[in-house]
Amino acid sequence: MKYIFVTGGVVSSLGKGLAAAALGTLLERRGLRVLMQKFDPYLNVDPGTMSPFQHGEVYVLDDGAETDLDLGHYERFTSGRLSRLNNITSGQVYETVIKNEREGVYLGATVQVIPHVTDVIKGRIYEVAKRDDIDIIITEIGGTTGDIEGLPFLEALRQFKDEVGHENVAFIHATLVPYIQAAEELKTKPTQQSVAKLREIGIAPDVILCRSEHPIDQDVRKKISMFCNVRPEAVIPFLDVMGTIYRAPLNLHDQHLDDIICARLGLVTPDPDLLEWRNMVDRIVNPSHSVKIGVVGKYIDLKDAYKSIYESLTHAGAANDALVDIVRIDSSDIEEFGAAKYLEKVSGILIPGGFGDRGIEGKILAAQYARENGIPYFGVCLGMQIATIEFARHACGLERAHSTEFDEGTPHPVICLLEDQKDVQDKGGTMRLGTWETKMRPDSKSAKLYGKTSVNERHRHRYELNQNYLSLFEEKGMRLAGTSPDGKLGEIVEIPSHPFFIAVQFHPEFQSKPTAPHPLFKGFVAAALEKRG
Ligand code: GLN
Repeated sequence: MKYIFVTGGVVSSLGKGLAAAALGTLLERRGLRVLMQKFDPYLNVDPGTMSPFQHGEVYVLDDGAETDLDLGHYERFTSGRLSRLNNITSGQVYETVIKNEREGVYLGATVQVIPHVTDVIKGRIYEVAKRDDIDIIITEIGGTTGDIEGLPFLEALRQFKDEVGHENVAFIHATLVPYIQAAEELKTKPTQQSVAKLREIGIAPDVILCRSEHPIDQDVRKKISMFCNVRPEAVIPFLDVMGTIYRAPLNLHDQHLDDIICARLGLVTPDPDLLEWRNMVDRIVNPSHSVKIGVVGKYIDLKDAYKSIYESLTHAGAANDALVDIVRIDSSDIEEFGAAKYLEKVSGILIPGGFGDRGIEGKILAAQYARENGIPYFGVCLGMQIATIEFARHACGLERAHSTEFDEGTPHPVICLLEDQKDVQDKGGTMRLGTWETKMRPDSKSAKLYGKTSVNERHRHRYELNQNYLSLFEEKGMRLAGTSPDGKLGEIVEIPSHPFFIAVQFHPEFQSKPTAPHPLFKGFVAAALEKRG
């Protein structure tokens, strides 16, 4: 087994997750079996309890793990399917250590960061490394070198490389090389200092990825090389990618990142086969058409909050030879100024998942606008619940219909708490999570788009469709198109008389890949193109 660890220095948001994922693409396309994972130094057990303002999207895995959004990059850039073992937080590590201590596992010892905490961290890597269907594990370390919280992880990695042999471990350090306008110069000092911090801990990077908004010339590379004790060719510029993030593997390959890593780890492989990937990038950056899709949410200012939704729309656009021009609309603005002002010019409306009542009425207005004006509508999770509430209120005359999440005393609880959620008190990891099967009516639009009547999709919700209202809905033109296999949980609703009205309780955005766009997103964008004419 070979191991690559990706650390970051100077500032956060360097695109280190993207770089790690892009390296995953390259190694996989050289024929290696790659597994990707992330260590997050914060003390939350998982990001499921964090606000999107803190952390961006929560990415859900097949096994129901609520994880960092970088795992979304990993799954989109490589073929590996990840599990809860692949996102480790300090919260999980300390939870294990404290549980061990209470059980008497360390009886007699003083429990300390070194060795007890570092042992648990290494144990998690060894556990993953037991798998015999992978050749290489790429691990990204969250946070920035020098953070107090990150120290136990870096110390664990230092020990780990000695245990498994230096020849099997490569370190990549991503840093920022800022351009100072007044001096008209790129500055290497932050990189030097952050590498020095790493070396203090006992880790010497093999590759330095230099994030910069300006081209990095040979002199700057040589300087970084000299001060940081890395070969000049291993000082790799990581500039902003033009047009699409999916260019990142191609750019890094042009800079020989994968060659350098393979040489360093003694991996002999053919050159990567990037034909399919290049074609996909071409489709994304050179489309013949374009279409405006409105995404109506409440974390609209935050690019990362609906990451997988935006990516899935891009994938679906490429599959339809179209650029999807995403119009981000804050549902509170719709509440204030009405839906038409924001939705008049879009050819498709998507309402993503969400929690809490801010902006809910604006989303209901957006769904109403889509339904009444024949604009393709795609509801995801909360977007499905919103579509149902809207339909109940305005098509069925159930005036104060609502979800009990937002109005406990509603006379028409068309969305209500899942039966097995009724006694749940804890907030962490307690929703209906992960992959569950959905069975569809063969004559539904969803089944036609999927090309089958049974699918497995990922979930993250506490509330469900109240099936007592189904016959009224059917009578008025909305029908249940998909359910859990036992029929008990509503998974998909459709309005057959509408050009495209599909709303799903699950999260299809977690399974769309640039090389394999999700059928529902693909169908939605196709319908929007048709609407645009
Ligand atoms: N808040 C809703 C629920 O818990 C929807 C969740 C979501 O959109 N992920 O059911």
